[in-house]
Amino acid sequence: MGHHGVSQGGQIDAFADEGIMLEGIFIPPGIMNMALPGTGQEHKRLAARYNNLAAFGVMVSDTTRGRVFPGLAGYPFLAWYSLNQADTETLRKGIYYLAQIFFAAGAKQVFTGCSRMPVVGSEEELQRFRTMPVRPWHFELMAFHPLGTCRMGNNPASSVVNINLETHDVKGLFVTDGSVFPSSLGVNPQVSIMAFATRAAEYIADNAGCYFK
Ligand SMILES: Cc1cc2nc3c(=O)[nH]c(=O)nc-3n(C[C@H](O)[C@H](O)[C@H](O)COP(=O)(O)OP(=O)(O)OC[C@H]3O[C@@H](n4cnc5c(N)ncnc54)[C@H](O)[C@@H]3O)c2cc1C
Repeated sequence: MGHHGVSQGGQIDAFADEGIMLEGIFIPPGIMNMALPGTGQEHKRLAARYNNLAAFGVMVSDTTRGRVFPGLAGYPFLAWYSLNQADTETLRKGIYYLAQIFFAAGAKQVFTGCSRMPVVGSEEELQRFRTMPVRPWHFELMAFHPLGTCRMGNNPASSVVNINLETHDVKGLFVTDGSVFPSSLGVNPQVSIMAFATRAAEYIADNAGCYFK
């Protein structure tokens, strides 16, 4: 019955020091079904148990660094990101913690999102999940918080905007969205983005004379 009430009402930050946040979330049947393992009748059987499902997100504060390149063949840009092994291990650890919590709460099965062991049905299987070799491509992932494509910094060689969020290259051009963060925040970013945008707006207002003569 996860679709009743607040769909994102719980969070576990006990593992924040390990770069892991566990966040309650519930999603409509169409999207939930895409995340369920199996095909055909097996998948249909799971989908029919929607009322018995609970979902949580494992959020990893990643150390992997991506690149954004100028686009080719009419595409405005090309984004490149390849999850590293350290983040893969952190991810596995987060799923392991979450599965322990789910089993303690009475779950019969946990769907891991890992193609090497998509379903864990017992503590013994969970211990196998914890120790088996895993690689980045074994996990089906989603990115809700892409940050850092125009990162902030003092050095124009390694950053796009300065600490006032004004671009190094074009005076009077400000970037006030999630792209300015230099690294993963480790928390949901919306409030920090709004705080930085507000700060930049105040800077522009205070210095308007320099820009509009
Ligand atoms: C499913 C989901 C759940 C999330 N849940 C949370 C949460 O619970 N808490 C939290 O803190 N964060 C959450 N986030 C992340 C948060 O929504 C984003 O980090 C944040 O909205 C990014 O803000 P932004 O200003 O950088 O970009 P956006 O909010 O994406 O704003 C970009 C704007 O630019 C507009 N735009 C794009 N191209 C053009 C163009 N060429 N011309 C004019 N306008 C253009 C777009 O229409 C959009 O309005 C979630 C994200 C997703 C996808």
